[in-house]
Amino acid sequence: MIVTTKKNVKEIISYVSSNEGLIIVGCSECAASCQTGGSKQVEEMAQQMGIHRVIATISIHAPCDKRIASRDLKRIDDEIKKADVLIALTCGSGVQAISEVTGKKVIAALNTHFLRMVERIGRFYERCAQCGDCILNDTGGICPYTRCPRKVRNGPCEFIAGIMCDVHPHTECVWHLIFTRLKQNGEEKRFTVFHPPLQWENRYSPQEVVW
Ligand code: SF4
Ligand code: SF4
Repeated sequence: MIVTTKKNVKEIISYVSSNEGLIIVGCSECAASCQTGGSKQVEEMAQQMGIHRVIATISIHAPCDKRIASRDLKRIDDEIKKADVLIALTCGSGVQAISEVTGKKVIAALNTHFLRMVERIGRFYERCAQCGDCILNDTGGICPYTRCPRKVRNGPCEFIAGIMCDVHPHTECVWHLIFTRLKQNGEEKRFTVFHPPLQWENRYSPQEVVW
C-alpha cells in the first residue's frame, strides 16, 4: 500500500476558480487507511471548500485502477458532466487514472510518499523501494536497497562505523542486521552471495509491466 499525506487546503483551493463546480473523490483503500482520503476526509474536504460549489463526493475502492475508477465514477456520471474540477484524495496514480478516465481537470489533494509496511495507523515504514530485482532470499528478508542510504547490494561499505551506518549514525548498518538475521536462520553462507549491479536501464521512469 502507498503512504500519502495531506496537502495544505489553501494550496488545493488556489488551483480552483471561484465559479468552478467541484467533485471530491476519495480512495477507500490506501488513502483511507492513511486517514488522508477515506470517506471522513472526503467530507472534511467538502466542508473546507468554503464558497466553492461542491456538486458531489464519492469514495472509490481503488481509484488507481482505471477499471474500478471508470466503473465507480459512472454512478455520478451526471454530476461529473456538470463539474469543472475533481479533487482527488488519492495517490498520484489515482489522480492520473481519474483524469484519464474522466478527461477532466483533477487536482491532487495529497502528497504521495512510498510503498509501506504498516505497524499501526500513523506508523508506516518503507521496506521495499521496488528495485525490480529482489534479493531478499539472500539477505534474510531484509532489504539493503531500501534501508542502505548508499544502496549497497554487496555490503557493508567501507564507511561502516562498528555496526552503525556512518550516514545515519543512530542507525545500525543494514548489512549488520542482515548478517545477524542470516546467522539466526543458519544461513550465514548467503552473506557472501554476490549480487550483480542493478540493471539501471530498467529503472528509468515510467516503468511498465505488460504481458
Ligand atoms: S530487493 Fe528490496 S527493493 Fe528490491 S524488490 Fe526486493 S524488497 Fe524491494
Ligand atoms: S554503513 Fe551500511 S547502511 Fe550505511 S551506507 Fe554503508 S553499507 Fe549502507
